[in-house]
Amino acid sequence: MMTRRRWIADEWNETTAALTGEQAAHLIRVLRAEPGMEFDMVAGGRLFRAVLTECANDIARFELLQEMEADGALPITLLLSVFKFDRMEWAIEKATELGVERIVPVVASRTEKHLALASAKRVERWRRIAREAAQQSRRSDVPAIEDAQPLKTALKREQAGAKLLLSESEESVMLSAALREESTREGRALQMAFGPEGGWTQQEASLFEAESWKSVSLGPRILRAETAAIAATAIAGAFYNEAAH
Ligand code: SAM
Repeated sequence: MMTRRRWIADEWNETTAALTGEQAAHLIRVLRAEPGMEFDMVAGGRLFRAVLTECANDIARFELLQEMEADGALPITLLLSVFKFDRMEWAIEKATELGVERIVPVVASRTEKHLALASAKRVERWRRIAREAAQQSRRSDVPAIEDAQPLKTALKREQAGAKLLLSESEESVMLSAALREESTREGRALQMAFGPEGGWTQQEASLFEAESWKSVSLGPRILRAETAAIAATAIAGAFYNEAAH
């Protein structure tokens, strides 16, 4: 069976959807789509089979034909301390492909000053990367990318589920063991936090401890933050996917 190309609608209501701007231009001018062609369309987090009804200059309109079953995101939130932007973007793209639900960029003590300052403006770009990666990996939703925020703020807001602090200095508890213990297999929500290139400070480690986060390890090697984020997400994803099948 040929898989239909999947789009994430810019505008929608109960029966129709539309792509605008760059997405519409790509569909019409690059892919040369014509009315009558069918696509998968994600509208408001729901997945539909849709038919293209009208191509104007910068808008493509669709009729929503039938709702289809969609795979939900993994109930995983990543607290990613802001690190070098090219690597940060890579982490966001890959975490999106792997299915995370939410990413919270955190300005950590050892986040380089110029990156911390530029992070507020960078969020729009991160959201665009997540959206493109979601579409490309045929997700039916786009992970939420929150505004960059200080660790204290992020920790105060993060409540539900298991809370795991990825730490290169943890020697005894492995991530996989903690996941078993925290019953993520039963679909419980999970938050994982990753430090910047220079790691967490002692003070930050205490903040995590005060909020009952548990330190876990990915093994004896020191990984770059983005490697740690992707590896941990893949390991946790395997737990959820196994439980679902
Ligand atoms: N400060 C450290 C150093 O230079 O020795 C390096 C920090 S590491 C580059 C960045 C982040 O990746 C860490 O804060 C941690 O969240 C995660 N990380 C790296 N290696 C890890 C490991 N073996 N286990 C768990 N987390 C790890």
